[in-house]
Amino acid sequence: MKRSIFVFFLSLLFLILLPNQSNAASSHSKMILDGQELVLPADVKVSIINNYMMVPLRVVAENLNFQVDWNQKAHIAKIEQNSKAMFLTVGKKEAKVDDKLVLLDTAPQNINKSVVVPIRFVSEQMGLSVNWDNKNKVIYLTSPQQNPDPSEGPETEGDSEESLARVNQINYLNHQLIVSIDGKATPKVSTLANPNRIVVDLPNTTFGTLTQPLDSEMAGKLDVSGQSDVSDVRYSLFGTDPDLVRIVVELNNDIPVQYHKEIIGDQLIIDLSGTGSDSQPPVSADEEKRKIVVIDAGHGGSDPGTTSISNKHEKDFNLALALKVQELLLKEPKIEVIMTRDSDVYPTRTERVQLANTLNANAFISIHGNSVLESPQATGTETHYYQRSSSKQLAEAIHKRLVKAMGLKDRGVKNTSLQVIRETKMAAVLLEVGFLSNASDEKAMMSDTVQYKAAQAIVDGIKEYLNIE
Ligand SMILES: [Zn+2]
Repeated sequence: MKRSIFVFFLSLLFLILLPNQSNAASSHSKMILDGQELVLPADVKVSIINNYMMVPLRVVAENLNFQVDWNQKAHIAKIEQNSKAMFLTVGKKEAKVDDKLVLLDTAPQNINKSVVVPIRFVSEQMGLSVNWDNKNKVIYLTSPQQNPDPSEGPETEGDSEESLARVNQINYLNHQLIVSIDGKATPKVSTLANPNRIVVDLPNTTFGTLTQPLDSEMAGKLDVSGQSDVSDVRYSLFGTDPDLVRIVVELNNDIPVQYHKEIIGDQLIIDLSGTGSDSQPPVSADEEKRKIVVIDAGHGGSDPGTTSISNKHEKDFNLALALKVQELLLKEPKIEVIMTRDSDVYPTRTERVQLANTLNANAFISIHGNSVLESPQATGTETHYYQRSSSKQLAEAIHKRLVKAMGLKDRGVKNTSLQVIRETKMAAVLLEVGFLSNASDEKAMMSDTVQYKAAQAIVDGIKEYLNIE
């Protein structure tokens, strides 16, 4: 009966989801809703920030079917379903859920012109249960299931349903497999070799409202990427007549398995701490990870920066050049570009620093224009770094190319204490591309053609520093 409800639920979901068959979910991340992979629109990108999966608001609206309102001016997204409403602000970790302040792990962000929000947070607040497989970058979402009402099930025979035990939770932590079971179960535990495994069979047991992911085959896997002693913990409804839940724990080493079985309250505990383990954590398969480059267009919004000789704002020059750098970096398959702003808004310097640090970025490039209105003869390009040799290396790689591209005086690479390059933790530079207060510098800086040359110079410098062909 459980199964028929599940199938019904799936077909229901099929009706709701967009029939978009283009197979283009990005960066190998997957979203599974009730056992079914969500097919995202071709131009939609999922990003992983600090191990949190971020999805565009569009996905929240179209794939999860929540009601979304975006306030462009305030940068606030309102997400609603039934009577529940939450407000998320770009760049802010504080969210409002039903008038309560809740702290997010990762703030919503503006990435490549779309607003992304932490999918886990949004889903959980909306009553879905969420599981994150960090190793494979898969997020499992499970809709709240109605409790099966035995009186409605046509196939319920006598009280056989009554005596079924139900597994509601399976966890593996600190060398212990912990299974929460509702009802009476008599676990049978055995071991197998090559590879070493522990098999836990739970006769006359099925899955209840399991908080871990279950696919359409009534099977699933735990994320054990942080556990040193096991390589795999999987579970399934192994039999249906009669029902049998099987959990298999696959070990990481060849040492004979030693376990200790215990039942405390409604929890079955299989303790493996007796098996000599605690060796190396498993090597993660993240070798081909893309480098994260943060491009920071200086100033913006309420902060115009300096003023040019013909009364133009520095913030506009900074953004124009930054967007060209972004455009070029988007073509680089080994680089993920993140903008601190891509419109006329003002993130504080602290927020820019935090963004880069939170992302664990590989390089940070802040774009500015110089100005000394009192001495309009001042001219040239200078590049700032602060102390770190990685920053100096990045500065030199960009500077030599930028001077050429701009065709202005070479004012050199300088060690300067500026907040955005001092407090960021990666290679960080601040470019003073030219003097907006100088007539001929300004002319070059405002030229689209020169800006493209400068953007290419910056990208080439970044690639040299990151060792990207
Ligand atoms: Zn500036």
